[in-house]
Amino acid sequence: MATKQTNAPDAVTAQAPGRINIIGEHTDYNDGFVLPAAIEHKMTVQIHRNGTPSTVNLTDLKEQQSFSFNLLDFSPMEESWQNYVMGVVSELQKLGGDIKGFDAEFESDVPIGSGMSSSAAMECSFAIALNALFELGFDKLQIIKASQLAEHNFVGNKCGIMDQFASVMGKKDHVILLDCRSLEFQYFPLELGDYQLLLLNTNVSHALASSEYNTRRSECEQGVSVLKKEYPNIKNLRDVTIEQVVAQKAHLPEPIFRRCRHVVNENQRVLNATEALLAGNFKTLGELMYQSHFSLQNDYEVSCPELDFIVQHTIGKDEVLGSRMMGGGFGGCTINLVEKGRVAEFVKQVSKSYRDRFGIDLTPIEVGIGDGAKVIQ
Ligand code: ADP
Ligand code: MG
Repeated sequence: MATKQTNAPDAVTAQAPGRINIIGEHTDYNDGFVLPAAIEHKMTVQIHRNGTPSTVNLTDLKEQQSFSFNLLDFSPMEESWQNYVMGVVSELQKLGGDIKGFDAEFESDVPIGSGMSSSAAMECSFAIALNALFELGFDKLQIIKASQLAEHNFVGNKCGIMDQFASVMGKKDHVILLDCRSLEFQYFPLELGDYQLLLLNTNVSHALASSEYNTRRSECEQGVSVLKKEYPNIKNLRDVTIEQVVAQKAHLPEPIFRRCRHVVNENQRVLNATEALLAGNFKTLGELMYQSHFSLQNDYEVSCPELDFIVQHTIGKDEVLGSRMMGGGFGGCTINLVEKGRVAEFVKQVSKSYRDRFGIDLTPIEVGIGDGAKVIQ
């Protein structure tokens, strides 16, 4: 039988949310800025010690699917949700976490693969649940980094830190301006006056997402290695100005020049958007969202026809101030800044056009801004 320290809990229930991102896409792994917020959609994990030294039994309550593995001997599988959980266990073990056998049941209302970070919700809910159950004593930053590394090492997606940071550090009704280099952050109230955010889920998820994500990462690194020849003090694209990128255009092969231009401009847009939000200048905020989308579409090339169609549909509609793809790209949601009271009418029109064009139903999602991951029992 497993030994248990006195007072250690037998069972824990924990939750971790998905997130939206107002602006700042593909900037996090370039040490840049992002402006996300945790949402009320979340994963809930119930976990208890099962008295064995090393047997883990997982149950996906929605799919009624179970999976077991041995804590002493496990490795990544073909693409599957199990990798997110095993990845978290593995990273906590690497930090010295003494994890014993446990059973866990989980359930989530974060749409999967839609750019709302169902993956971070899964990683972070398991990480904080295990941290509490086995009294591992890791702090929030360790939980965030372990969850990010789970995705790197077990899923093979070299994601930045935004999703896990937002999932753990989110604050009700606030956005987080995060500096992904220093991890310094500030909360700002998300007050949008006569406007509100609305997500439109394309309900497509193109298979390219993961491989292209890693390709973009290496394209940025290639850009940095070229720019370093002229500007030896730069560490990555965070340190570069748009003037410097333009000045080196002849040395930056296509499409590397455009990749660099997106990241550098997007970083500036995050700072400008934060100012606009604080000043209540929603028109400017919306314009920056559009600029972000067209930069992701044309310079970074991570959009897709379905996302582009929805953004295009909003142009010229005075009830919409801004629209852009959200998340890694190749499907998922757009995030839209829409006048309150005119949402229903807008959704009706855009849904019809989208169905006529693609034969697919759009899903409108109104998100509440919620708190970050927590143990609830
Ligand atoms: P996103 O994080 O934007 O939702 P990802 O592709 O990063 O998209 O993560 C989606 C993956 O996370 C799914 O394919 C699945 O493996 C895992 N996942 C997330 N939530 C769940 C869930 N509720 N049930 C099963 N798997 C989930
Ligand atoms: Mg994800």
